[in-house]
Amino acid sequence: MIFAANFKTNHTRSSTKAYFDTLSQKIAAKKSGDKVYVFPPATALDHYEGDFTLGAQNAYPAQKGAFTGEIGLEQLEEFSVKTLLIGHSERRELLGESQEKVAEKFDFFKAQGFEIIYCIGEPLEVRQEGDAAVNAYLLAQFEGIDTGYENLIVAYEPIWAIGTGRSATIEEIASTHQALRKAVACPLLYGGSANPDNIREIASIDNVDGVLVGSASLDAEKFASMILS
Ligand code: PEP
Repeated sequence: MIFAANFKTNHTRSSTKAYFDTLSQKIAAKKSGDKVYVFPPATALDHYEGDFTLGAQNAYPAQKGAFTGEIGLEQLEEFSVKTLLIGHSERRELLGESQEKVAEKFDFFKAQGFEIIYCIGEPLEVRQEGDAAVNAYLLAQFEGIDTGYENLIVAYEPIWAIGTGRSATIEEIASTHQALRKAVACPLLYGGSANPDNIREIASIDNVDGVLVGSASLDAEKFASMILS
């Protein structure tokens, strides 16, 4: 299983350091096949020791340059970061990232050999139209994306389940991941209110290779308990 923690705009540099100290200690007992990723805010990127992969939540598709407020490849390289989240719904919805921009980022960081966790997910009104509408919506989010890229992980995150405490149902996750499995061969994560109470059930669903966790990942002990459950 893959366990990925997305801090979003939470944690400081010092609390991230404390988080890694706790997490590293706790996950020493994790199963050998399990893989842990942590995406802290850009201000907390640093050199950390431990059995996890440090990733960035976002970056601009450029080495460096005049892109106010952004970080580029040069800033990631300073901390040996080679893993990136792309296409998170908060960036698409709140920050207006178009599919074209998302695909441009994907191409740039793919050319740099980055491991990419590529996020897709439908809004509630699409989910309410049923499976066919959901699948069509999700497949459109692969436009311009090389789904055969060897360092790709896809995260299915229904927007209505993110940060709401309302996870998708087992049936919804199962049917969507089954449809996605026909479209992509890479690992498939589920994201959307995954927590210590529902992790085992989610992990047992066919075609679920891991989880991307927001709120429940903010506490190192809680996230570790999901990994060790
Ligand atoms: C996320 O935003 O990637 C996410 C899954 O958030 P949460 O776990 O809080 O729903």
